[in-house]
Amino acid sequence: MRKHERIRGLIRSPLLAWEILGRGDYHFVYDQMPITIRNMSLEKRINLVKSGMNLIHRRLTPWSMPLHMQFELTNFCNLKCPVCPTGLRAVSRKKLAMPVSHFKQILDEVGPYLLTASLWGWGESLLHPDLGAMLAETKKHPFISFLSTNGQNLDDDRVIQAIIDHPPTYLIVALDGLTDEINSKFRVGARLAPALEGVRRISEWKKKSGSVLPILHMRFIAMKHNEHEVPDLVRFAEDHHFDFLTVRTLSMIHTDASNDTYQSFIPETTRLSAYQYNEGRRISKQDFYCLEPFWLPTLFADGTLVNCIHDYNAELSLGKLSVSNSFRELWFGDQSRTQRRKIRDHSMDLYFCRMCPARDRDTTDASIKAYYLNKQIDYANIGSF
Ligand code: SF4
Repeated sequence: MRKHERIRGLIRSPLLAWEILGRGDYHFVYDQMPITIRNMSLEKRINLVKSGMNLIHRRLTPWSMPLHMQFELTNFCNLKCPVCPTGLRAVSRKKLAMPVSHFKQILDEVGPYLLTASLWGWGESLLHPDLGAMLAETKKHPFISFLSTNGQNLDDDRVIQAIIDHPPTYLIVALDGLTDEINSKFRVGARLAPALEGVRRISEWKKKSGSVLPILHMRFIAMKHNEHEVPDLVRFAEDHHFDFLTVRTLSMIHTDASNDTYQSFIPETTRLSAYQYNEGRRISKQDFYCLEPFWLPTLFADGTLVNCIHDYNAELSLGKLSVSNSFRELWFGDQSRTQRRKIRDHSMDLYFCRMCPARDRDTTDASIKAYYLNKQIDYANIGSF
């Protein structure tokens, strides 16, 4: 988080505390997606306020359960994106899909407190063999869910059935080109047809059933080879039944990709770039304040809990979830204190923090622009419970 975002948060905090504690409402925007949560339980309200205090104090043992979580449904993928640790085969963890029992166990503990759950990690989530059972678990809890996909098996009957039986709040479909040629320059091996066919079928089902969810969200990462397509994005997304569109910048993460590979993707349009450059060198921002370990842990597919998704080889593990190791034991345990201290006080010693994608960005969000395409949807009330 940047200094200006912290100051804005602190100024808003008295009003927020009143809305949360007094009325049980919370409005926020998550990576450009508008969210409204109403009628929160008392325990959730208290947890939210305590969590706000964690963010100010960055306590090694948090006062609260996390507000957001990332769940790695699988850590294998059907594409080979050139800067992704999975595409580059840099993830050394065993390839697997998260067991439904693990997911259920952890959601039973954290679900009552979470505001959002992002259902992906370093893999393609729709390849999960029990996708329907996984999504069914999310529906037992009052949080917002984001399911992200490259869309390559979105036309599979089994996948569509899982999504319409248990719709996530947002279904994010990552398309970085309006033709196969452009899209597959970054999403190596991808085709548009299965993604667009899946979106068409889900949209048709939404119209027939009257369901607002899932919000069909097209996400486009602007890069050098596709930036010329930006003016055509709205028309393309509308023509292909999307409800929502975001344009995102390409963030650099620690991988085996060379700097030249990254450089080749940086757009020429300054406002589409995640970072600012001076004579080819990235401008470093000094006011970055990392909040990740205090509110947004990641559960990897094998049950290992980490403070930040960018620790993709779990070198700073908080421990492994098991029948005898509850989430609370990991989250509030001694190992977590040690690992949080390393990130809070010595982040530049850590492989994944040295190249933190958020450190030099102007904003915490990587997405920079949102388009509300479906006039039938009351976006301001998405997520009301
Ligand atoms: S990479 Fe490190 S500094 Fe960046 S968000 Fe993750 S934990 Fe924080």
